Amino acid sequence: LQSKLPDVGVSIFTQMTLLAQETGAINLAQGFPDYDPPQELLEALARHARTPGHHQYAPMPGLPRLRAAIATQVARLHANAPAPDPATEITVTAGATEALYAVMAAVVRPGDEVVVFEPAYDLYGPAIRLQGGVPRYVRLPAPHFRPDWDAVRRVVSPRTRLVLINTPHNPSGAIFTADDWHELARLLAGTDALVLSDEVYEHLVFDGAPRMSARQHPELRERSFVLSSFGKTYHATGWKVGYCIAPPALTAEVRRVHQFLTFAVSTPTQHALADVLEADTTDAHAHGLTSFYQAKRDQFRALLADAGWELLPVPGGYFQLARYSAFASTGDLAFAEFLAREKGVAVVPVSAFYHDGFDDGLIRFCFAKEEATLEAAAKCLR
Ligand code: PMP
Ligand code: GLN
Repeated sequence: LQSKLPDVGVSIFTQMTLLAQETGAINLAQGFPDYDPPQELLEALARHARTPGHHQYAPMPGLPRLRAAIATQVARLHANAPAPDPATEITVTAGATEALYAVMAAVVRPGDEVVVFEPAYDLYGPAIRLQGGVPRYVRLPAPHFRPDWDAVRRVVSPRTRLVLINTPHNPSGAIFTADDWHELARLLAGTDALVLSDEVYEHLVFDGAPRMSARQHPELRERSFVLSSFGKTYHATGWKVGYCIAPPALTAEVRRVHQFLTFAVSTPTQHALADVLEADTTDAHAHGLTSFYQAKRDQFRALLADAGWELLPVPGGYFQLARYSAFASTGDLAFAEFLAREKGVAVVPVSAFYHDGFDDGLIRFCFAKEEATLEAAAKCLR
């Protein structure tokens, strides 16, 4: 069999998690918390697991009550944007992963171009290529990873079908500013290009930065698929529940694919999430995530201060990038393997986020970990 993705191996996140298991290293590689979801969510899940009738297929687009609860919360959080219509604009998906894939499958035709900012989350490139699409990469330069809009302008053409945005950005934590949204809108005005805005870290914006979604920009809202993930928001990456918000005509296309990809998402998890969202009428959980993760970021940075690591700024998300040139001049994959094997900490080499393996001498730490885990890791890293 001739592979459709001959250059793709096991993902770097799986690879580094396996290395952590093999070596016993502390896993700051794959992005997942080492704490559980909030107690009320776990209790809700247990309750629904015991509820007769909650174990068969959910409706294809998602449970109506979960979609209604998402719409209500999003209406509060996305100031100046109309509430999304749960009937025609929200689709519950098996994580943001399925939503990403469904959007690509729905809109990218062979030969269509998709603009991707690098470093980029690992599935973007392969998902585009599996549709016969052509990724057009634009590099975001360290340490601030801000888009150079002249460079973006040079790759946008009538062949551009989709522009992929990820804000806050994995792995850098960079956040799109009001100017960035404005530049994007200006660039796409008069074209029929669409936007896929991956906002899975939407609540993790630090130092008073405003939360801002593609939905809050009137011209972009009309052409955007906006994704979020309950895995990130409720410390439940293993539940694999997320959603896609898009105008009715775009949502209809996503659902055409979603119905044949997974058909529907697990029923009891959707009920549990609906309970918790309905009860949180002030968005206390979402707002609390900001200070919760900012404290983790600050703790981790303080633990590694003055130890030779060059810590890049972290405006959002739950990853810390670091330059290790004070310790080694090897490539980042070799350095990551050294850290796991010799120092007991697993990390992700940032070259894995570039289609051409560009190596800028950076590694990524995930700080979505208990204080004690971060302290133990820092002891090894100092
Ligand atoms: N997009 C980005 C930028 C991510 O970091 C992740 C999770 N690592 C996903 C999408 C996938 O989200 P989910 O786990 O909900 O499928
Ligand atoms: N999104 C997670 C990360 O960036 C990884 C998820 C996965 O392993 N697919 O670490």
